[in-house]
Amino acid sequence: MTLKMFASLSVLSLTAATVIVIPAAPVGSSTTTAWSAPISGKLTVVRPFIPPPKPWQSGHRGVDLRARVDTVVRAPAPGLVVYAGPLAGRSVISVEHGPGIRTTYEPVSATVTVGQRVRTGTPLGRVAQSKVHRNRLHWGLKVRGQYVNPLRLLRHRSLLKPNTSAQ
Ligand SMILES: [Zn+2]
Repeated sequence: MTLKMFASLSVLSLTAATVIVIPAAPVGSSTTTAWSAPISGKLTVVRPFIPPPKPWQSGHRGVDLRARVDTVVRAPAPGLVVYAGPLAGRSVISVEHGPGIRTTYEPVSATVTVGQRVRTGTPLGRVAQSKVHRNRLHWGLKVRGQYVNPLRLLRHRSLLKPNTSAQ
């Protein structure tokens, strides 16, 4: 990693054992570009990010945002679609935003295809029916193999408090 690259990274998560850095701006964009939310309007977190105590244990590897079926889901930053289709009975889309940085969306019926380049705001698909994620968009972020809270990408965004009554 060059010094110039390092200067564009910001530390977003610290644990005793690891330091996770993700770009302050998506690859290929100016450093002032912020990540945007995958759905428009005010974000309501229905289920928060719950990292598993150990990688193999259960947790909630993303956040669930309230989103009605058919809500348009958009790329939060420029990237490359690396997965779009069914995965273990769910409709999943994954976008790579740079080396080792992936965001994942489900349940979403894709309108993009694998290998497609997307810009910030490009529609990826629409929220689909799901028993597990009913009227929700599950948004995941993986940085170098480790799940991170994707809300960390949205530093200037106001969030509604988690709504536990809508479980
Ligand atoms: Zn979820």
